[in-house]
Amino acid sequence: MNFNLTPEQTEFQTAVRRFAEKHLKAGALARAHSDDYPTDVAQLMAAQGLLGITIAEADGGQGGSLMDAVIAIETVASVCPRSADVVQAGNFGAIRVLAEYGSPLQKEKYLQPLLAGKALIAVGMTEPGAGSAVTELVTSATPDGEGFRVNGSKIFTTHGPHADVFLTYVRFGPGVKGIGSVLIETKMDGVTLGKRSRFTSGEEWVEIFFNNVYVPKDMVVLGEGGFKKQIAGFNVERLGNTARSLALGRYAYEEAREWAMQRKQFGRLLCEFQGLQWKFADMRIKLDAAQLLLYRAATNADTGFPSPTETAIAKAYCNQTGFDVSNEAMQVLGGMGYSQESLVEYCMRRCRGWMIAGGSIEILKNRIAEAVFDRTFSQRPN
Ligand SMILES: Cc1cc2nc3c(=O)[nH]c(=O)nc-3n(C[C@H](O)[C@H](O)[C@H](O)COP(=O)(O)OP(=O)(O)OC[C@H]3O[C@@H](n4cnc5c(N)ncnc54)[C@H](O)[C@@H]3O)c2cc1C
Repeated sequence: MNFNLTPEQTEFQTAVRRFAEKHLKAGALARAHSDDYPTDVAQLMAAQGLLGITIAEADGGQGGSLMDAVIAIETVASVCPRSADVVQAGNFGAIRVLAEYGSPLQKEKYLQPLLAGKALIAVGMTEPGAGSAVTELVTSATPDGEGFRVNGSKIFTTHGPHADVFLTYVRFGPGVKGIGSVLIETKMDGVTLGKRSRFTSGEEWVEIFFNNVYVPKDMVVLGEGGFKKQIAGFNVERLGNTARSLALGRYAYEEAREWAMQRKQFGRLLCEFQGLQWKFADMRIKLDAAQLLLYRAATNADTGFPSPTETAIAKAYCNQTGFDVSNEAMQVLGGMGYSQESLVEYCMRRCRGWMIAGGSIEILKNRIAEAVFDRTFSQRPN
């Protein structure tokens, strides 16, 4: 067992850091507070080979491993936390499901512009009545001629107001087996966006309505019975969320560490007060433990999909750590930490959301408990 990155991984990390320092450092604060999706960053990353890291070269990707993608997201976040979202969108989310299960036509139409940083895909899974119990989704796909008519709505979709296309979870028939997914473009007839709202993180979301939207059959990604495959792909998305939680916690920690080494009160540096030293020791312990859990899940997945249990353990722990550490870092920076002059408060707000998004900590713990006892526990009434 070796706890160090390989020479190739270290070289990759150095190259990503150099790229981030050169292109992303200057605008990091402004980017975090902008409503726009950073398309300019996406295109720079595409040119640098940071989109599609785990996607096969034959499909226009880099043919790398999940661990490479984790290194990229962590390294970018350490310089510009907001730009880590672009690494996420270009490597961990719906793009990976599309690369894995999409048809050649779907890949040509959607994957190529996504990999070039010229389009954005979002995941429409959650509905007003189907959150943690996602299999209760009711958005339906009913056969109509050579395709399907989709009716329903989605909420909380990340990048919903900016996306060009949605990987939309739909119901072709009853039960879990009836769930699959289709690609729906924002500009299609019958797609409308509701009132804009905001998460605590500042990100905007909209309810997306599908009113009798015609979806040709060649835009079905996974048909009936595809739910399990979809969730296997979704575990990759979870690891992206996991990596960002940890990385933003670490960003806030580094800011607090620098601050504690130069800010003086009572004639002493903050780092000389034992009450703060112990905070830093606790933060460091959590960050190191979280890092190991993340790397285990990513390394064991190699180029495939990560294990659901290892992903759940890593995500639950990194989500909590990212929030706890950024919250403590804010305390160390005092009023400056609570101010939008630093990115610490941004890191804290973003990390809070990931404790709910993409499988809340409670739902992940349910999953872990099933692994502990090697049996399933139905969450539904008898
Ligand atoms: C920042 C952010 C980004 C998101 N991005 C997307 C996206 O891109 N696409 C998308 O489709 N969705 C997205 N979501 C939605 C997200 O997946 C849901 O919010 C999440 O699944 C929880 O569903 P809910 O909000 O309806 O809460 P509910 O399911 O109503 O849960 C409420 C609370 O009860 C707890 N709970 C529920 N069931 C159980 C149980 N069986 N045992 C113990 N506790 C339980 C939950 O953990 C939670 O704390 C996003 C959400 C956030 C906050």
